[in-house]
Amino acid sequence: MLELSNVEVVYDRVFLAIKGVSLRIGKGQMIALLGGNGAGKSTTLKAVSGLLAPERGLVTRGEIRFQGADMLALAPPARVASGLVHVLEGRRIFEHLTPEANLLAAYPLRGSRKRYQELRERVLTYFPRLGERARTKAGYLSGGEQQMLAIGRALMTEPELIMLDEPSLGLSPLLVQEIFAIIGEINREQGVGVLLVEQNAAAALEVVDHAYLLENGQVVMSGEAAVLRENPDVQEFYLGGA
Ligand code: ATP
Repeated sequence: MLELSNVEVVYDRVFLAIKGVSLRIGKGQMIALLGGNGAGKSTTLKAVSGLLAPERGLVTRGEIRFQGADMLALAPPARVASGLVHVLEGRRIFEHLTPEANLLAAYPLRGSRKRYQELRERVLTYFPRLGERARTKAGYLSGGEQQMLAIGRALMTEPELIMLDEPSLGLSPLLVQEIFAIIGEINREQGVGVLLVEQNAAAALEVVDHAYLLENGQVVMSGEAAVLRENPDVQEFYLGGA
């Protein structure tokens, strides 16, 4: 479904942040891209969605294909329309709007009212708390609720693949478990592919099928989550020696 071949990203003309990354996600798969601070995880997602800082970051080599289409030839909104959505790190919801208005803002302009209601209902089934907080401005929601809203908003675009950048950031371990479990349900029940970027490797490896480890802008290891969990290097460097 999504295939990156030898992708290279340069910032400010000189800094090579991604050095030939190749990875693939099959239809409906759930995979993780793991790695420490500055490994290049966010940059990889931005290359795919087209959200690299304009004038600063540039894909200088490689290919990104989604359902066969050349993503690098498309502007970001066209990539969303093709079924690929990116939930940025730090949520970036509209804080002065209610959850409902946030969902509406993400819904395609030419969509029908009926489809909007159906998608909204589906989002509230997965995240009932958003319904309970319907009249609260999103800026007053808790961190976990804001993350739920960010994911719910992405679902309003009816994605085939959802890319999540650090959804666990700043959340309690219990809440991370809850949100990851819901992401897993959305993946299984709706057939939406998931590319999960995480520093929290332990939690991510519990829910994904397959993972890639990124260091210094390069994929250093990849494999089935269950196999990676047993790997001594992964245990030492990513799972805190657990
Ligand atoms: P984190 O989880 O901390 O965001 P990451 O793995 O997502 O880490 P990136 O944010 O992709 O890493 O950063 C990769 C490298 O690119 C880092 O060295 C970072 O300093 C650099 N970088 C990221 N964004 C920019 C930018 N807009 N301009 C210049 N350099 C950048």
